[in-house]
Amino acid sequence: MDGFVYNGNPGRVIFGSGTVSRLGEEAEKLGASRVLVLSTPEQAGQAQAIAGNLGKRFAGLYPNARMHTPTDVTADAMRLVETLGADAVVSIGGGSTTGLGKAIAFRTDLPQIVVPTTYAGSEATPILGETENGRKVTKSDPRILPEVILYDVELTMTLPVALSVTSGMNAIAHAVEALYAREANPIISLMAEEGIAALARALPAIKTDPGDVTARSDALYGAWLCGVCLGSVGMALHHKLCHTLGGMFNLPHAPMHTAVLPHAVAYNEAAAPVAMARLAKALGVTDVAEGLYDLAAGLGASMALKDLGMPEDGVRPAVEQAMSNAYWNPRPLDREALETLIGRAYAGTRPG
Ligand code: NAD
Repeated sequence: MDGFVYNGNPGRVIFGSGTVSRLGEEAEKLGASRVLVLSTPEQAGQAQAIAGNLGKRFAGLYPNARMHTPTDVTADAMRLVETLGADAVVSIGGGSTTGLGKAIAFRTDLPQIVVPTTYAGSEATPILGETENGRKVTKSDPRILPEVILYDVELTMTLPVALSVTSGMNAIAHAVEALYAREANPIISLMAEEGIAALARALPAIKTDPGDVTARSDALYGAWLCGVCLGSVGMALHHKLCHTLGGMFNLPHAPMHTAVLPHAVAYNEAAAPVAMARLAKALGVTDVAEGLYDLAAGLGASMALKDLGMPEDGVRPAVEQAMSNAYWNPRPLDREALETLIGRAYAGTRPG
């Protein structure tokens, strides 16, 4: 065994079916008596219903969370935190809602309970990406890490198939990069392999039957494992590219990850043979980049960034930005090769 460093993030995880009924109990454990519940506008009704589990501890609902955590939305929510005298936040939804809860916790150190309804994995990380004046800035801080995650499989049953597929691929991307991370360690690599295998098994079954509880449960379990990977070791080229492209062209988060991942993996394939062998095993394929492409495309995901809103003349500026302040990557960044990579993701070409 080679030497390694492992940093475990603290946090309580409750996983199962019908677990939202334990929300009041969990708020009580945190000593919270005035809980602010957060959601997107689309999930306001669901959040209001779940808030009933808080009983008299429910202080109010803020249903305006938005993608990429804009700071003006956070400022608006902060006014409600103060008016209500909130002493905890409960985020019910995907990464957008979790982002708002984290932004509030970063400013106030209030404890957070997250009830995830997608596979984004933000609930398991001390990372927050906030957007101000069109620029997304990422920070990491112990205050940002949620205290409690309440995974309830029942709440994921309504996640549309298309979003289930891309959100699942977004989760897989975290684990892929964890396997070739500079800080890779044996515990996180185990979680990465297990998370990828669970999602690769679950996503086709969800596509066939979105009401398949076993598949939904496997996907949520995989999403948690992949989220832990994201929160524990540094990410590389794939996440840097998505951060750049998302910020520059406001592309939808999970679909963008899905389209870029096979090409980022193809770029790194030869430089990370041990990770690729583990990935191939987890995915049950011989070529990882092609396997990831075929998995997502076979489930109906759009594999071309041009279909997600990226302009054709955006390839070069994106490479320029990705090369500046580059993350560590197993293969050094090469301008020409990156242009090819983004060009292929733009067009949706199969790697190989
Ligand atoms: P999202 O939270 O924006 O959700 C997408 C849409 O799906 C929303 O309208 C939401 O209300 C709806 N939705 C969510 N769950 C549903 C369900 N079960 N049934 C029906 N509708 C549902 O999407 P996302 O991909 O989960 O999150 C993306 C955001 O999360 C981005 O801003 C990204 O940067 C951030 N993120 C952050 C981290 C981190 O560690 N900081 C990790 C991953 C993602």
